Amino acid sequence: MHTSTKESALKKPIQFVKGVGPKLAAEFRKMGVLTVGDLLYHVPRRYLDMSVRMPIGDLVEGAEVTVVGDVVNIRRMLTRRRFKVLNVTIADGTGFLTAVWFNQDWRTAEFSEGAKVAFSGRVEFKYGDLQMANPFYDFLEDGKTAPERIRTTNRILPLHPATQNLSSARIRLIVQNAIDDAGVLEDPVPAKIKADQGLIEYEAAIREVHFPTSQDKLALAKHRLIFHELLLLQTGLAYRKKRLEGQVKAVRHTTDGALFMKWRETLDFKLTGAQERVLDEILQDMASEKLMNRLLQGDVGSGKTVVAAGAMAACAAGGYQSALMVPTEVLAEQHHAKLSGKFAELGIESVLLTSSIGTGEKRDCLQKIKEGRAMITIGTHAVIQEAVEFASLGLAIIDEQHRFGVHQRVALKSKGAYPDLLVMTATPIPRTLAMTFYGDLESSVIDEMPQGRKPITTVLVDRAKRAKAYKFIRQEIAKGRQAYVVCSVIDESKMDLRAVNEEYERLKTTVFHDLNVALLHGRMPAQDKDAIMKAFRANELQVLVATTVIEVGIDVTNATIMMIEDADRFGLSQLHQLRGRIGRGEHESFCLLFADPKTDEAIARLKAIISITDGFELAEKDLEIRGEGQIMGVRQSGLPDLRIAQITRDQAVLSQARETAFSIIEADPELTSVQNAGLRAAVEDTFADRLDWLFVS
Ligand code: ADP
Ligand code: MG
Repeated sequence: MHTSTKESALKKPIQFVKGVGPKLAAEFRKMGVLTVGDLLYHVPRRYLDMSVRMPIGDLVEGAEVTVVGDVVNIRRMLTRRRFKVLNVTIADGTGFLTAVWFNQDWRTAEFSEGAKVAFSGRVEFKYGDLQMANPFYDFLEDGKTAPERIRTTNRILPLHPATQNLSSARIRLIVQNAIDDAGVLEDPVPAKIKADQGLIEYEAAIREVHFPTSQDKLALAKHRLIFHELLLLQTGLAYRKKRLEGQVKAVRHTTDGALFMKWRETLDFKLTGAQERVLDEILQDMASEKLMNRLLQGDVGSGKTVVAAGAMAACAAGGYQSALMVPTEVLAEQHHAKLSGKFAELGIESVLLTSSIGTGEKRDCLQKIKEGRAMITIGTHAVIQEAVEFASLGLAIIDEQHRFGVHQRVALKSKGAYPDLLVMTATPIPRTLAMTFYGDLESSVIDEMPQGRKPITTVLVDRAKRAKAYKFIRQEIAKGRQAYVVCSVIDESKMDLRAVNEEYERLKTTVFHDLNVALLHGRMPAQDKDAIMKAFRANELQVLVATTVIEVGIDVTNATIMMIEDADRFGLSQLHQLRGRIGRGEHESFCLLFADPKTDEAIARLKAIISITDGFELAEKDLEIRGEGQIMGVRQSGLPDLRIAQITRDQAVLSQARETAFSIIEADPELTSVQNAGLRAAVEDTFADRLDWLFVS
């Protein structure tokens, strides 16, 4: 890889920038800023347009504004519920405005009477007073005496993300030093693309985004940096996809052997049209000489397992082994329990491999896999451990793929010589995100539920109606059904949450004393977990009090009631996955939520889960409520973090960048041409700790 001197300037540790010592370097580290390069991408989250500020006398309720004034009063109070409140009032000659902070006592020391300060935020009227809750603030120097670079008035003031001990004013100075220090920034975007896309120069964009000279130029700078970042990401994806497409199997598989035909006869139900279609897509990939790299998406309960089983049967029919890797022991055990019988009928041996099976058993298991006697391996992360050797792995499947990173995908594939890869997920992500985070995979979607499913009724239960809810659960159990009670924590906690241990004791000894109640959580020994899941599947237990260990994959069709305690503590996709444990069979199902939401976001989540059942729709809603950074499956996707671009906000730029990237790779697949040299280096840098993935191992 080529290393220019420029690159080393960007790699310089932050500690050696003028104005930063070990102490401030530690503060920067807290924000993920380790090098000069990181600092250049530590861009302001907000700007205060100090050139257009508003006199207090002109403020209207609800406006988002910047106001400048002198501090005239600082008050600290304690509310009845023992919240500490800090009030700081400023005046500007046209009126008074009070900024309010809760439980942030440390801010008191930041303010002194007479200081000139700018507040920026949303204006509220409270008891006849003008207020701003948690405003952004900055202290102003006298415009005449302050040096230009730290002048705050009459300009667009950048507000860099800061910490308690490192103010945005301080960061402003340091960034300026770092930019001067870094010298000329090499631009990795080829000149022709810059011209075609109308992009401004890289270095100018970096300067402008930190220290804007006008709103128009700031917009151009942001666009340039967003395009830049997305182009590097998409070029990496395009590069990888091209390489994947070029991969050829060692041996072309046959998938229509007699075994596969027999497998179809063992099924208890008719496959849905969607299942038939995706199975067909998978079998075609497997039979082709090109390697399969396929994502199978399907909402919770849509029946992905049987599709995976079909692919494994086909693989076995062609004489190759397959492996199914899942994120939890409970799920591995379930899949094995459900599938091994059917496979055994066909004379296909399958083994269960988790880290908690006994040593002797494990030795046996590894031996069978190595000798090729075990045609099918179902297990947890244990499957990718070094000791595991396959005789002839032809197909690698990952279930609940959003729980794994790209490294684990690579590790599983490396267990064979060019095995086909199928990754499955029930966490639907919006199309725009899928395009990027699974941008290197082909995609199959199960968009149809098995017939005869009844809708799930979801309700938020009033605290006063708890007894009634238990009575209802009893009635359903009397009809032969089973129930889950889900808690958010294992042990008693400070925060008034219902702990699974306590709920279990309470329900078992009081409310449901005459029923068979069991406890399940992740910290229990594997054997106990197994025994309990087996008993629950066999309907020997009526109530399972559990944590989110049951969140993924668990399939007990007779369980039709789910009661979720402290439901406001869970994310939307988590609630969807949890609820997906019921409504999997022919009986009507009910999801009862108990919650005490304290934020608008929590309320929005609960409203969404009550009114929406479709996973894709919920995913869009989740994105809308939380923003993409938090979306499950994105953080764990293993792709490089985006520092400036936001995929949902920047969809249009994303499409442009993607198109550009794919055409660059089409014309120069290895990026070996002179004009693409800088681009290649920057892409490698972007994927630095994922090069094995980028280069396709
Ligand atoms: P998921 O897609 O969430 O992994 P599963 O594969 O666990 O879903 O399937 C959910 C339930 O639906 C299982 O009990 C399974 O046996 C059943 N099922 C799957 N496909 C069909 C079908 N075509 N007809 C009827 N039931 C089905
Ligand atoms: Mg599943």
